[in-house]
Amino acid sequence: MSSRNAIRTTPSKQPADGHPRLAIVGRGPAGMATAIALLRRLRRPFHLWMIDAADFPQSFGNGPAGQALMSERAGQLSALADRPLDFVDWLKSGLGGGRAAVLPLRGFENVYVPRSVFRDYLTARFGEAFAARRDTTVQTVSAAVTTVRTASGGRLCLTLDDGEEMAFDQVFLATGHGRQGGESTSWQAAERLLWSRERKADAPLLLAGDGPRMAAILLHLRASGHAGPIRILSDGGRIPEPHAATLLDPLTPAMSAATGLAETLRHLRADGARTVGAGGSWQAMIDGLNCQWPALWRALPPEARKRYWRHLRAAHRVRSERIAPELHGRLLRDLRHPATELVDARILGVVADGVRVRRRGSRKTDVMPGRLIDCREDVVQPADGLLSEPGTAMQVEDDGRLTGWGAAAPGLHVLGRAAGCLRPDTRLFADTVRQIYRAATGLDAARTDLSARTLA
Ligand SMILES: Cc1cc2nc3c(=O)[nH]c(=O)nc-3n(C[C@H](O)[C@H](O)[C@H](O)COP(=O)(O)OP(=O)(O)OC[C@H]3O[C@@H](n4cnc5c(N)ncnc54)[C@H](O)[C@@H]3O)c2cc1C
Repeated sequence: MSSRNAIRTTPSKQPADGHPRLAIVGRGPAGMATAIALLRRLRRPFHLWMIDAADFPQSFGNGPAGQALMSERAGQLSALADRPLDFVDWLKSGLGGGRAAVLPLRGFENVYVPRSVFRDYLTARFGEAFAARRDTTVQTVSAAVTTVRTASGGRLCLTLDDGEEMAFDQVFLATGHGRQGGESTSWQAAERLLWSRERKADAPLLLAGDGPRMAAILLHLRASGHAGPIRILSDGGRIPEPHAATLLDPLTPAMSAATGLAETLRHLRADGARTVGAGGSWQAMIDGLNCQWPALWRALPPEARKRYWRHLRAAHRVRSERIAPELHGRLLRDLRHPATELVDARILGVVADGVRVRRRGSRKTDVMPGRLIDCREDVVQPADGLLSEPGTAMQVEDDGRLTGWGAAAPGLHVLGRAAGCLRPDTRLFADTVRQIYRAATGLDAARTDLSARTLA
């Protein structure tokens, strides 16, 4: 099938009408939200390719991963920057007659929905935005992108894993955790171990991680009847923190972007102690900090930024990327169970039938026996390792533009989690949506730059 304004599933011949060619790599939430934003915001016609390595992109919404609850409330999951409650409105519109029964319980803004529902929302909004554009084509491609390079004429050339090369005017890398660190790898490992006939019931499972992925997989293992020992290997002994019971207004901490990191933290601790002492919530303090975070980060000198990545990042992430209170309660209940143990240790490597770890406070390394399910959510290599060209100081800007990457790459954007250590975002969906709309609006404003260039 190769008609205009239709989704196609294979890379196709280049349309020769001179409209700009855009590619989104990754069809997870960030890639889908980018497609929606481009379809809504870019006024001139364009051709869009959506490329994903997985057979089932958006796998976060399928199988047991789809039954797990979103970490953020419905009120914070709009994919439309101009309509912050769009997801809530979509939920309400789908409930029809059942709405009256649900409304009084908690209010839709505070509901934590299963991830399959969020996937359906993104798919629905994409379909609507696409249907409204008769001047645009969208093609889906099932392939991994293995390299990105600049080509002559200022275009960006992507190489696919079958060797095909495709040139684009603008490329949006929304590769999230990448192919290796992607969530489906963790769920597949859990399912394999859960249902494996060879596994002995009393052989320990080792769950590495400290975020929502670890919590969701632990609770899935228990809900599926696994009663055997589980060791949670968490560097720093952290587990996910809960949201407050209801949505609170962020409390802006008393600090200025010009204050150094150490000074800011001192203020924050003092403010936090006062706030909590007065019955306030630390969650509202952290949310207030995060509202100011981009400005604060810009004002930090390079040395303070390095210190942040080394010593503070993990704690900031765990306090910002929180889970539903009821999920947190279940996690704590499971941790009280003698079969679950939280181990403060760093994984050094995987060995036969176990992992080599260094426990906190020890100089020695141990081998911890068990089968590993790696649920760590750090993005080890930004953009799935595609940014290998040497760049002195690569950075991802507020609108996703990549700067400092080898040759000048005016059309290259890195969105959401794909930025990894190139951007210290707090990793909430609204941060990603803001970044995506800045990118789309910036493109629309720079319409002359977007004119299609001659193919390399
Ligand atoms: C239980 C649970 C609840 C969560 N709740 C929330 C929440 O409420 N809010 C939130 O923001 N986050 C939440 N998360 C985290 C969430 O899963 C991630 O934020 C989200 O998946 C990131 O979206 P993404 O599109 O950036 O990346 P991903 O979902 O990782 O998608 C990236 C896509 O890119 C593809 N890809 C990667 N590399 C390549 C390549 N080289 N070539 C081609 N394709 C490639 C992958 O196949 C994948 O489909 C939750 C996680 C869990 C486990």
